[in-house]
Amino acid sequence: MTAMEPLPQNELRDLYRELILDHARNPRHFGKLENASHQADGINPLCGDKLRLYLRVDKDERIAAAAFEGSGCAISVASASLLTETVAGISCAEAKDYSNDVIQLLVEDGSKELRPELHKLNALAGVREFPARVKCASLAWRALCSAIDNENSPISTEH
Ligand code: ZN
Repeated sequence: MTAMEPLPQNELRDLYRELILDHARNPRHFGKLENASHQADGINPLCGDKLRLYLRVDKDERIAAAAFEGSGCAISVASASLLTETVAGISCAEAKDYSNDVIQLLVEDGSKELRPELHKLNALAGVREFPARVKCASLAWRALCSAIDNENSPISTEH
């Protein structure tokens, strides 16, 4: 056994890229969710990303299941896929907090640390270098808030 060495920055970036590509190629929880109690559409006209997010929220306001369908670029699909993994089993209030944290991570300078349970989502932070991609990565998270609030109008990154 050797002590774990911290990964050099470029290896970490490679791992993150692998994670994004893996989720883009094999999105988790992809497809319509049966018995969904909440749903929201998100569109990003600049890139052509379109997704519909489904949630099944139980009587204790806990997200029992999440799924999505739609089409878009690798970043938007990977972000939605990571989202469905992240929010299953947590409360709606927590999910909205998580969403705010991720959106902040995407738009801010990265000084903010994500809470440990969101560590995988650091993979999305790379898009900060590509401002046009921020909307791709944040789309699903904005749709999440909309679904929880049961807003009926689709979320668009452009107003
Ligand atoms: Zn996109």
